[in-house]
Amino acid sequence: MSCANQLSRRTLMRRLLLGGALLPLAPQVWEPARAAAATLLAVGSPEAKAVQYTEDAKTAKSAQPGSTCATCALYQGPYGSAQGPCQIFPGKEVKAAGWCSSWAPQM
Ligand code: SF4
Repeated sequence: MSCANQLSRRTLMRRLLLGGALLPLAPQVWEPARAAAATLLAVGSPEAKAVQYTEDAKTAKSAQPGSTCATCALYQGPYGSAQGPCQIFPGKEVKAAGWCSSWAPQM
């Protein structure tokens, strides 16, 4: 094996090890960037009104106890997040404490 190949392999191994070491930090770097890019769903918007969306499930008359966006099957925010994407509102985020009439139980 040539010296150039050994250096190349050594460089590759260093980069893999560095990448593996930095991988746990990726969500911490990615999360603020994602949150800054996403827009919070406006409660007064037509699509929110269509499903009676509220940012606080406690104010929703039809919400069952414990049913919030955070416990909804359509919520895509990370566990413990304050807000996150919802499958029925592409490009928007909803409050984890929110609720709407499309709430579905997680399986
Ligand atoms: Fe919240 Fe679920 Fe309604 Fe989306 S579908 S707004 S996550 S309750």
